[in-house]
Amino acid sequence: MGRLREREKRKKRARRLRIQKAATAALGVLVLALGWKVVTLAIHILPESSDGEIRTAESGQTESEWSDSQETDAQERLRTERTPLSDLSEDILLVNKENPLPDTYRPELVKLRSYGVEVAQEMYEDLTDMLNDGEAEGLVFWVASGYRSMERQRELLDEDIEALMRRGSSPSEAYEEVVQETMPVGCSEHATGLAVDIVAKDYQILDEKQERTEEIQWLQENCSRYGFILRYPKGKEDITKVSYESWHFRYVGKAAAEEIMESGLTLEEYLEGKA
Ligand SMILES: [Zn+2]
Repeated sequence: MGRLREREKRKKRARRLRIQKAATAALGVLVLALGWKVVTLAIHILPESSDGEIRTAESGQTESEWSDSQETDAQERLRTERTPLSDLSEDILLVNKENPLPDTYRPELVKLRSYGVEVAQEMYEDLTDMLNDGEAEGLVFWVASGYRSMERQRELLDEDIEALMRRGSSPSEAYEEVVQETMPVGCSEHATGLAVDIVAKDYQILDEKQERTEEIQWLQENCSRYGFILRYPKGKEDITKVSYESWHFRYVGKAAAEEIMESGLTLEEYLEGKA
């Protein structure tokens, strides 16, 4: 009986420690996230390049100036009022590591057929058309991700941070390593409901081989007709700060999508050109 109680106590203590650790990690994340806007340390915003080396910035100043020019009134309005997308370029919401969404952002969501994911209502029809037309040509898609809440994004980050901390990293080291791969809370386009990760059903791994599937090749060629762009193209990592993702498609409306995909510009460059 005594031993049982002892074990119970030990378990409780371990649980308490775990909670304390998680709280410390969460606090670390919060502090770092707040520092994000102010501190333009290049390393925070740079992705790993495809060959695995960490890119270095020429100057942190350039980055912050660029970000200031992006902070237009229109973007502010989109973040707070959630204006439905129209064909006007000022209605295209820019979400990246320098332009996070506010915590309060909640898109209008619809469930997408059999994939079990939710997406923003405004792109539902075009997305369904794209998937149906591709499938009519014999392709078989799988929608791996649609809307992801900020809470879920935070959980994903925390899990990875904790795993690194268990291996001896400090909270800040762990955070910096994790955000090379996973977007910080509020910086993921998936929180807008306007982004989807689509893969071939028979090859669902999000890696560099995904682009060789017929499904991805068809999507990259045809997505703009349905209002989608390949959001993180190859060779544009220095602008998007995200490694090439052959599977991540972002809805921007047909007019903008066609312009963007034809010009080969990123959303950042396109919006900057329109500002
Ligand atoms: Zn994605």
